[in-house]
Amino acid sequence: MKVKPLDPRIRKDIFGYFEDYSEKPTHDPGVDTICPFCANKLADERKTLSLALFDPEHRDRSYFYRTCRACYNKASDEEKDQMDYSLIDILIEPILNKSNN
Ligand SMILES: [Zn+2]
Repeated sequence: MKVKPLDPRIRKDIFGYFEDYSEKPTHDPGVDTICPFCANKLADERKTLSLALFDPEHRDRSYFYRTCRACYNKASDEEKDQMDYSLIDILIEPILNKSNN
């Protein structure tokens, strides 16, 4: 099953990250943001997912995002993988552009 392209409203403000091993994120987009699966405001029942992205400019960062729990449970494994790749693409684009300059 092909996953449709990400909704253009989905921007960087859906991502949070940790820069150390504390329990509190260094940056947290909060829960008042968009679910990348349904492109609506996050539901009250949420799921937090980490992204396997190595950011060479911020080596200590580990990124995460949130989805509605229902959207996550509904998605197939393939759709979940595809979502991760799409989101990593958003984050990695400015990094790649910078290294091309
Ligand atoms: Zn959703």
